[in-house]
Amino acid sequence: MRFSRKAVLETLEALYPDARPELNFRNPYETLVAVMLSAQCTDKQVNKVTPALFERYPTVESMAAASVEDVYPMVKSCGFKTKASNIVESCRLIMQLHGGEVPGDMKALTALPGVGQKTANVVLANAFGVPTIAVDTHVFRVSNRIGLAQAKNVEETERQLQKAIPQKDWVAAHHWLIFHGRRVCHARNPACEACALNNLCKAAKAAGGKVVTPTKKKTDIQA
Ligand code: SF4
Repeated sequence: MRFSRKAVLETLEALYPDARPELNFRNPYETLVAVMLSAQCTDKQVNKVTPALFERYPTVESMAAASVEDVYPMVKSCGFKTKASNIVESCRLIMQLHGGEVPGDMKALTALPGVGQKTANVVLANAFGVPTIAVDTHVFRVSNRIGLAQAKNVEETERQLQKAIPQKDWVAAHHWLIFHGRRVCHARNPACEACALNNLCKAAKAAGGKVVTPTKKKTDIQA
């Protein structure tokens, strides 16, 4: 079958009509902290630590007043100490520069320590309803395999996806691609035989129906 972006997007939407963030958060502050913790960590693990973290530090103000030494043991299972220090330092800057309110624009968010474009895009989409396509490891891999993008890096992938997908679907498409990457189009050994996109996917077509990944070589990017 000829490649059709429309057919790909319709198939993804039909597969994942309820696609949504798998991180738990209730406001922009919790969104920012949860997304910062999720870098190179699973959403499931982040969801395990955030209830106690947000109970002890429920606001930007309380986190800004915290010591990294106190925060780190609570988030240790999500990664390095840098994450704890970035979260505390970001909250201090939000107190100083933004009156304690998480800023809703890309420039201000990416000025915070530990907040890159991907994190900012996720915060903007989920906490402020801004149409963005955050390109994490799943979005990068899946969109380039399917053929929605043909890019070598995250920035180019984001630009291409913004052109390939109607703006009204940007946030949903981000979630569709993540769901598909987690459930079917795995980094290693994607389940092409069972994939509903098999007859549309450029990588599967080029590989004769089944994408084979090297077993040892690192083929993925880190988000
Ligand atoms: S056919 Fe294979 S490579 Fe293509 S989207 Fe499906 S699982 Fe991924």
